[in-house]
Amino acid sequence: MDHRAHCDVLILGSGMGGLAAAALLARDGFRVIVAEKMPRLGGRCSTMDYNGFKCITGVVGVETRGVVQGLFDRVGAGFDVKEAGPPHYLINGQICQVPSRGGMKHLMMAAGAGAMEVETVMNAITGALQWRAPSSDVPLGDWLRQYTSNPRIMEIFQALVSAVLFVNVNELSVHTYFEFLKKLKGIQRFGYAPGGSISLARSLAKVVVDHGGEIWTRCRVNAIKSRNNIVRGATVSRRGKNLSIKAPVVISNAGPKETARLAETGIRDQYYLRELEQRMTPARITALQFSMDEPLFESNHLLVTGTQSLNSVYQPTMVCPEWAPDGAHLLVAGSAPRNSLEPFDGKREIEQCLADLRAVFPGFESRARLLLAGTFQGAWPGMHSLPGRDMDRKTPVINLYNVGDGVKPFGYTGLPGVVATGIDVAEEVMGRNRILTGAP
Ligand SMILES: Cc1cc2nc3c(=O)[nH]c(=O)nc-3n(C[C@H](O)[C@H](O)[C@H](O)COP(=O)(O)OP(=O)(O)OC[C@H]3O[C@@H](n4cnc5c(N)ncnc54)[C@H](O)[C@@H]3O)c2cc1C
Repeated sequence: MDHRAHCDVLILGSGMGGLAAAALLARDGFRVIVAEKMPRLGGRCSTMDYNGFKCITGVVGVETRGVVQGLFDRVGAGFDVKEAGPPHYLINGQICQVPSRGGMKHLMMAAGAGAMEVETVMNAITGALQWRAPSSDVPLGDWLRQYTSNPRIMEIFQALVSAVLFVNVNELSVHTYFEFLKKLKGIQRFGYAPGGSISLARSLAKVVVDHGGEIWTRCRVNAIKSRNNIVRGATVSRRGKNLSIKAPVVISNAGPKETARLAETGIRDQYYLRELEQRMTPARITALQFSMDEPLFESNHLLVTGTQSLNSVYQPTMVCPEWAPDGAHLLVAGSAPRNSLEPFDGKREIEQCLADLRAVFPGFESRARLLLAGTFQGAWPGMHSLPGRDMDRKTPVINLYNVGDGVKPFGYTGLPGVVATGIDVAEEVMGRNRILTGAP
């Protein structure tokens, strides 16, 4: 080993879960090192410059006035996000703006459902939200079919859960769905960061550095070290050298399976390892990014109903022109397979997403030029685990924690989910490890 370093808390990965924990802990007086293997910060909340376009690595829209913004306020980080305005759906070829109250009723009427049918579904939803949450193992689709057989109503629910929870009505448990509505209100408010999604990661990283922490990019963690079932630190490669970092607390943002792999023989609990295999179900999604001379439609985003796999289309440049060269527009289309549990064929998914775009937007091919096409799976998935199938944030190794979208709180998704994991773990570390680390 060439060198040694030490800190109070080593954070493996600069995704938003890792940076949320890092910012809170650094502000609280812990000596923090964040080790990130990539040259840029943010993981799946970052930005790649592609011919002057701020292309996404994951996050397009950022929830506002919720847990994410709350964290930024708490650590004193700048939260520069411009509101996108009310949600919009594409239903039967028409754009429908969702009113702030009675949104679902409005959408069902727009889909052509009769007043009686709408009332029946709304009564069931009100009961589930205000009285008794339905049984956890029933898929949302089966639960809805008790109240309606109208496929257009089903498509409204499908578009929302596919775009925001990356799963389908026939795979998502109804309990998880209503928990999502209760906890995150269906994510009614979101916006775009003018500096690109990476600016959020940079903002949290600044808090870390301003409070004496260090952020090491191009620094890969090769192994997490433990002795007697207590974490001791990690070995990393940095600037062509191998380095041993001693740390009494390690927080991993690499996903629970990768954390277990890096912990090598440290995790001896075979039942935990089996649970990792059986419980975790990654979300696989596709994102296509296009350049355009003019916006394709008149709102900055649409949740799309009635397609094979396309679920959402964003035009962030309508709110943040900074995301494209002067006079150009960026369009991001997202899709998820109709069966999230079947083997995933990335090439087929990209073709299906393109076919949906052509079917939904006449003249699409002559108006939009493909910049980047990506499928998100494997080590870089839509989410490490579908909502409701997350692992515990604590691992069997004492003081080795996971943060990020494989360990979300129940009912959470996307950035609010990963930021909530960072907050939860940081608070736990502040409470438990102050004595161990000697932090003030
Ligand atoms: C296409 C797509 C669109 C999305 N759109 C949205 C959206 O609009 N809104 C929203 O809220 N959410 C969205 N999400 C979800 C969101 O991007 C993720 O849930 C979130 O960014 C994941 O954060 P994380 O904390 O799990 O860390 P990650 O972003 O996964 O970051 C983990 C980091 O750890 C690093 N790392 C891994 N292994 C090592 C190692 N051995 N050594 C050092 N570093 C390592 C990685 O390089 C990475 O930077 C989207 C996701 C995708 C894929």
